[in-house]
Amino acid sequence: MKYSIEATTKVRRWFDAARDPEIDAEVAAIHEEVAEAVRAAAPLCLASGQCCRFRENRIRLEATGIEACRCLLLTAASGRGIGHADLDQAIEAGTCPWNIDRLCVAREGRPSGCRVYYCDPRAKELVPKLQRHAMDRLQAIHVRHQLIWAFGEWREMLRGVMLVAEADGILDLPGAPSSG
Ligand code: SF4
Repeated sequence: MKYSIEATTKVRRWFDAARDPEIDAEVAAIHEEVAEAVRAAAPLCLASGQCCRFRENRIRLEATGIEACRCLLLTAASGRGIGHADLDQAIEAGTCPWNIDRLCVAREGRPSGCRVYYCDPRAKELVPKLQRHAMDRLQAIHVRHQLIWAFGEWREMLRGVMLVAEADGILDLPGAPSSG
């Protein structure tokens, strides 16, 4: 796949932003806000991994470009990085490349969409409300730091930023992540 200069520049800026401690702290603050709201509502999580099996449960997980870059950087740093083959397998299986044996092995880098999602029926209203809140806050970060705002389906965003990261040598894309 060929990337336009504009798209490449946009992705490079997202990677720079994801590595910027100030921006990283702002994203982490959003995650903490979401976590606090979730703690207060106390929805039930049976750790079934359902929320990560997109096709089976008809879930479309969306994330921003910065979130995709951030997750790739953090998981690579903790030895849980993914490569194109992992992504291909996940797409084929209708799941996420970091969902191993029903567990998320990218907890530190997972996007806000993963943090707000609960299959507990009691959280039906809370989930979209929190997701909107997180997206609004993420958009504000883009405005504040003059970044191009874009979001899309999780694995599509990952693929797009991985192609640029690979071409630019930002990430050394590895083999399969381990659950150990
Ligand atoms: S990042 Fe983690 S929580 Fe989010 S979909 Fe992937 S495995 Fe599931």
